[in-house]
Amino acid sequence: MTNYHAHCHYCDGKYAPEAYVKEAILQGFIAYGFSSHAPLPFENQWSMRLPQVSNYLAEIDELQKRYSENLQIYKGLEVDFIPNMISPQTNFIQSLNLDYTIGSIHFVDSFSDGRPWEIDGSYRIFQKGLHTIFENDIEAVIHRYFELTRQMLLEAQPDILGHLDKIKIQHPNRKFYESSNTVYRKEVEKTLEAIKATGVIVEVNTRGIYKKWSIEPYPSYWILERLHQMEIPIMLNSDAHHPREIAEGFPETMKMLYEIGFRELQVLWEKEWQAFPFTPHEILVPIYA
Ligand SMILES: [Zn+2]
Ligand SMILES: [Zn+2]
Repeated sequence: MTNYHAHCHYCDGKYAPEAYVKEAILQGFIAYGFSSHAPLPFENQWSMRLPQVSNYLAEIDELQKRYSENLQIYKGLEVDFIPNMISPQTNFIQSLNLDYTIGSIHFVDSFSDGRPWEIDGSYRIFQKGLHTIFENDIEAVIHRYFELTRQMLLEAQPDILGHLDKIKIQHPNRKFYESSNTVYRKEVEKTLEAIKATGVIVEVNTRGIYKKWSIEPYPSYWILERLHQMEIPIMLNSDAHHPREIAEGFPETMKMLYEIGFRELQVLWEKEWQAFPFTPHEILVPIYA
């Protein structure tokens, strides 16, 4: 297995990075990447503090050396895209010499006091923004969420697009996010076109499944089918915050991907993104690799 979307105690994860490395080795992983939440210039519950960044990077470098016989370890960050504030392409992020970035939308516009609206947290805060910023117009929220995703892809390209449709956890009516909703489908289709144009890798993220926020991974089955039809490269990530989560949701999701017709997953291997074949049970390291 591999996993490149992982949080540790430098942000909102539970343990020091080494605990995840040990668990990954125990489970026979071939590569593991850390992607703490990049610092944000406002108070929040989950991002890394700016002064911690150099310690985070140094600690992963050290683990890379110590465990080089057993596991390929990579250092990345999950970076927000908030126009004029932070993006995967800001000078600061680019100066860190990361192996990769995951670009994720956790905020959509801001409240009247200037505070960005977190669409990824509690339903109460979601409702507050929906009501006060968007006058209860859920379609406008969806449009804005995917518009920001497209803007990030086109203007501040990350290596990986994080949890493409995570906003789906915030609506009481799941049917809203099915392909039969033409308004929703149109936003997704436009976003898939932007993904195709940029060559970004789409992660298939299992966190919603094992946290029981969603019955499908991010993105949903119908979007995965579209990604397959469009030959967009994908990878598998667990978005682990605890060592026990490093491969949670993988068996059922790999089976699903295989059924859809996917036969390759993107793997960061010898510092390069490569397509490795997989079965419903494991990722296969090609003989040449
Ligand atoms: Zn995220
Ligand atoms: Zn994450």
